[in-house]
Amino acid sequence: MDFTYRCNLRCKHCYFYNWQENRCELSDQEMLTFLHALRAEHDPRICIFLGGEPLLRRELLLKAVELFPVSWVATNGTLPLTDFPDNVVLFVSLDGPEEVNDAIRGPGVYRRVRENLKGYEAPFIITSVLNRLNWREFPRLVEEWPGVPFYVSLHTPSRALGPRDPFVLVGRERDTCIDMLVKLMEETGQIIATRAMLESMRHGIPDGPEECPVHKYLPCYDPCGHLKPTCTMHPADCSLCGLHCAHLLKALEAADPETVELARRFLIADTVDETSKVGVTMDRKRQDIPDDRFMRIVEEVIRKRRKLLEELAKY
Ligand code: SF4
Ligand code: SF4
Repeated sequence: MDFTYRCNLRCKHCYFYNWQENRCELSDQEMLTFLHALRAEHDPRICIFLGGEPLLRRELLLKAVELFPVSWVATNGTLPLTDFPDNVVLFVSLDGPEEVNDAIRGPGVYRRVRENLKGYEAPFIITSVLNRLNWREFPRLVEEWPGVPFYVSLHTPSRALGPRDPFVLVGRERDTCIDMLVKLMEETGQIIATRAMLESMRHGIPDGPEECPVHKYLPCYDPCGHLKPTCTMHPADCSLCGLHCAHLLKALEAADPETVELARRFLIADTVDETSKVGVTMDRKRQDIPDDRFMRIVEEVIRKRRKLLEELAKY
């Protein structure tokens, strides 16, 4: 759910802030009514609150997160991080060590985030979007935050940034970046990913939104409550999609065992604490999380895909 178009930052690579089409927002009361209706219709386990900066609607956000079993809040981390209830996993954006991050996200941003996180006692996840400006310095950022899990995407080219998106990683540079991520994941255990996911990220989603599990399974709504045509990043170039979630679900559709295990912890973990610590627990002893609910979901995804392939084979 895109909670607002507004943001207190002006990051260079932002597809969202640059997209000017249809910028109406639901009022607070309308938003709550809308979320109640969404809950009634889809009964989701997780609702993801994105922006703009969702904390610019702080009072409303604190009410909204209570409506779902688990709520993920993606924030730029520059506003005070208030007392969220226990069902919230906080995703805080940092795109590199201080000078790299601030060159993209604005002067002083890294320090503000670090100060705010000092006072935040619950677990959190750092989100990083790698692009041509920052990927080489990413290992240094991970080193600065020992033990913290990272949710990493590659920059997805957006039409909002013009016909030639200058941030997107392609060709050999993209390959080298993915190789670096594989190594970092194996060495640190802090990267929430698997080999299959990163291999998928290397190639984007060449067949476009129709083959994208985010488009198929995760409805995304703009701040006015309209269903977005493809995903939260609309309008984007799927062939170079680097969105973490798309490749997690893609590898899950292919029933990659390592990704199945990762998703079982990350998406279906029974506590927020398990969810947010998933990156650093991947290499440790398996936690005892009940299988039945998760396996039903995985089997359903695989069954649907098999059925689709069977249908296609008839032609
Ligand atoms: S914090 Fe997020 S929404 Fe705000 S400008 Fe940066 S990328 Fe865009
Ligand atoms: S840009 Fe969006 S719709 Fe396209 S592949 Fe990526 S997540 Fe899917």
